[in-house]
Amino acid sequence: MRITAAVAREKFGPFTIEPVELTDPRPDELLVKVVASGMCQTDQHGRDGYYNTPLPAVFGHEGAGIVLAVGDRVTKFAPGDHVVMSFPWCGTCPNCRRAMEWHCQKNFDLKMRGTRPDGSTLMSQNGEPVYGAFFQQSSFATHAIANERFAVKVDKDAPLDLLGPLACSGQTGAGAVLNTMQPRQGDAFAVFGVGAVGLSGLMAAKIAGCDPIIAIDLHAHRLTLARELGATHVLDRADRADVVQEIRRITGEGVRFSLETSAQPLVLREAIDVLMPGGTCVLLGSAPTGTEASFDMPFLQFGRVVRGVIQGESHPQTFIPTLVDFLQQGRMPIERMITFYPLAAINRAAQDSSNGTTIKPVLRMPD
Ligand SMILES: [Zn+2]
Ligand SMILES: [Zn+2]
Repeated sequence: MRITAAVAREKFGPFTIEPVELTDPRPDELLVKVVASGMCQTDQHGRDGYYNTPLPAVFGHEGAGIVLAVGDRVTKFAPGDHVVMSFPWCGTCPNCRRAMEWHCQKNFDLKMRGTRPDGSTLMSQNGEPVYGAFFQQSSFATHAIANERFAVKVDKDAPLDLLGPLACSGQTGAGAVLNTMQPRQGDAFAVFGVGAVGLSGLMAAKIAGCDPIIAIDLHAHRLTLARELGATHVLDRADRADVVQEIRRITGEGVRFSLETSAQPLVLREAIDVLMPGGTCVLLGSAPTGTEASFDMPFLQFGRVVRGVIQGESHPQTFIPTLVDFLQQGRMPIERMITFYPLAAINRAAQDSSNGTTIKPVLRMPD
């Protein structure tokens, strides 16, 4: 069928809105009318060649929409269902068999190669392939083909145009807290960097009853929002020479949990240095290969843990509906961090996101 998509034709070039031909769903696939899609830095990195995704390509991996048609082996979805499309995994590698699908050993290809697992493409123009299947969805388009395994059915009463970001940034930040850290009431928590991922973690820390909740950032407008969303203390780097000292002053012995979202070695060092004995620092920021950071060895010896977390260690089929419940209860007001753009304004959305004006851009698709 003929759809409209934001096509990336060259590295660092603009996205262009173009008609594209989309294939029919296979027996295990869904045809989804995309209502809205969040935009992540990963989409721009994809366009810019970080993952060697071939061009031209359609990116987008935080899609929410309505099922229009299902393949004849699909049993869990029917036309009319509301879905969020989440990250893909193979289901058969050693990590998938241990239910660690976020560490699927084939996940890089499944997310980035621009094709289905068997190498087939989903989109074309004048008989030439347009690479898509980004995270097995390519949601910067009016329609997407999604495998039923990675689609998550959500409550029809929930505001569908807000739900796409739960698939990546929301799940990543909130999952790092609720699935990995599992804080108890009254645990001290610090988040370094309050973009979409950091704020999602912060809202989860509030749900878990953490206290104090300390947010550190460079942007005053983000810190204002962090406070409104539950931070008990905010530290603006612009007027604070020693963040570690200040956090120790607030907490006494340090924090039980710290969340690092900036991917800066010096910030990671701070996120480790604020830990109390037995505390855990979770690293979410993705730094370029070869980036090194340092820590004090005796400090770590006292049971302090530093670990990376991918996709919030979330099982999307259960975790995304949990986050939707929080949203509907007003406990995870992600609308506070979202700015909507029409698909046609995708280049402005990308720019606003890169320069920090917008925390979380969400593209609304034309009818
Ligand atoms: Zn796997
Ligand atoms: Zn993402």
